[in-house]
Amino acid sequence: MSPAPRGRSTASSRDGKTGTRKKFFVRRRKVCKFCAEKLEYVDWKDVKLLQGFIPERGKILPRRISGTCALHQRKLQTAIKRARSIALLPYATD
Ligand SMILES: [Zn+2]
Repeated sequence: MSPAPRGRSTASSRDGKTGTRKKFFVRRRKVCKFCAEKLEYVDWKDVKLLQGFIPERGKILPRRISGTCALHQRKLQTAIKRARSIALLPYATD
């Protein structure tokens, strides 16, 4: 069973009226890290990986920033919560 990851199609096309889109805000394409690496499962034991999604405050990085797709964000959340519950990761400080 392999559900096709559909992370790349986050609807965010605000082309507006002008046909010519300036390459103004083109940073690196936000592609879900897990989709990119074809990770279907977010390993909650992989603290290093998870920490990449937890800024100092200990909160989970919102996906508009991390670029993680909904599917993986969800898995990531679960993973982080799990990791927290066994003290692999800190709970939100502050
Ligand atoms: Zn993804």
